[in-house]
Amino acid sequence: MDTFVVAGAGLTGAKAVETLRAEGFGGRIVLVGAEPDLPYERPPLSKGYLLGRDDRPSVFVHDEKWYADQGIELLTGRRVTALDRAAHEVELAGGERIGYTKLLLATGASPRRLRVPGNDLDGVHYLRRLSHADRLRDALATGGRVVVAGAGWIGLETAAAARHHGCPVTIVEPAESPLHATLGPEVGGFFAGLHRRHGVELRLGTGVTGFEGDSSVSAVLTDDGEIPADVVVVGIGARPETQLAADAGLAVDDGVLVDAGLRTEDPDVFAAGDVASVWQERYGRRVRVEHWAAATNGGPAAARAMLGREVVHDELPYFFSDQYDAGMAFTGWFPPGGYDRVVTRGDAEAFHAFWLAGGRVVAGLHVNRWDEGLDAVRELIHSGRTVDPDRLADPARPLTD
Ligand SMILES: Cc1cc2nc3c(=O)[nH]c(=O)nc-3n(C[C@H](O)[C@H](O)[C@H](O)COP(=O)(O)OP(=O)(O)OC[C@H]3O[C@@H](n4cnc5c(N)ncnc54)[C@H](O)[C@@H]3O)c2cc1C
Repeated sequence: MDTFVVAGAGLTGAKAVETLRAEGFGGRIVLVGAEPDLPYERPPLSKGYLLGRDDRPSVFVHDEKWYADQGIELLTGRRVTALDRAAHEVELAGGERIGYTKLLLATGASPRRLRVPGNDLDGVHYLRRLSHADRLRDALATGGRVVVAGAGWIGLETAAAARHHGCPVTIVEPAESPLHATLGPEVGGFFAGLHRRHGVELRLGTGVTGFEGDSSVSAVLTDDGEIPADVVVVGIGARPETQLAADAGLAVDDGVLVDAGLRTEDPDVFAAGDVASVWQERYGRRVRVEHWAAATNGGPAAARAMLGREVVHDELPYFFSDQYDAGMAFTGWFPPGGYDRVVTRGDAEAFHAFWLAGGRVVAGLHVNRWDEGLDAVRELIHSGRTVDPDRLADPARPLTD
């Protein structure tokens, strides 16, 4: 009997095993996850769950019974420590070996650590796992002074959650604007304004140099001074969990390198989700994104590829975020600095932003604009045609014909 093993029981892994069964695979399926919990969705950890609105069961992809009903062996709290490609086996911590016919690497990513003095003090938080969200939610409930290191998506969402809990919040960010590395400087002002309107103090253009405190953090040291803090949240990005693949001699760069069918150079080993750097014909290069949609769609695509189907996983990257009363979605992609113009449409409360390269739309963000939402933006990107920036900027004219 064929055995399909999935290393990593996050959203990608859970969606992959779901698809294997849905597509009729009748062999053995083993889903191995290092965390103690059932596979869960991470977006609520910095939104509804952190706010206290979503309960624990609501974040799980499936309940425990589902895995049993599907005949899926879910091993939680177990880490895959090695991949023996010659023997077609994975090794788990403790030495147990499991043979595989096909293997999916869905090991995701882990928070990038801020390596400064005091980084191991109590009260310094990272946010990736359910257990992190539990601890952080308890900490925010005390209403203490919060400092967020990093104005990326997780830092901004966490700042919004901390304000919801009534905490005074300061964000420290070395770049000149929030989300600078992801979106560039042009729309950063919107995010800065949004957070300032909700009482957040932004310290831009300054980096965290250390933390002070006896056993718990009491202050954050920055390039230009000291900020008192009871709770610190570090949100400075994530690193793909590529060690297993690298140790097994698979090609790894920023992620496990896979083709458009999510295959590594080993025909029996696949990778998807946050860990995978996927060939995108559209961009003529590999792209790795840390997006919920890439896990939701990439897991199923990998499952189909494992079943020998012809798969081209070339969906436009898509990301969503909620902060206070602002809902937003971003679609498309560009490398750092890979655009020459940003066009906005709407007002400061509800708008689109389009990133243009050579007169073509390469990415779009819409904030509180659900009437002309994602489909229109996708169509503009997919069409690859040059656009009239004046029309794009004019809310009185439709986005697409
Ligand atoms: C707080 C937070 C909020 C987010 N919000 C959004 C959002 O609003 N919108 C959006 O588009 N995206 C969001 N994301 C990103 C999105 O959640 C990720 O892209 C998605 O979780 C990736 O899923 P994955 O299964 O590929 O990886 P992961 O979720 O990282 O899961 C991988 C799993 O594999 C396990 N693992 C790793 N190594 C091993 C091993 N050797 N053996 C066994 N198990 C292993 C890990 O413990 C982990 O449980 C958010 C992420 C976080 C952390």
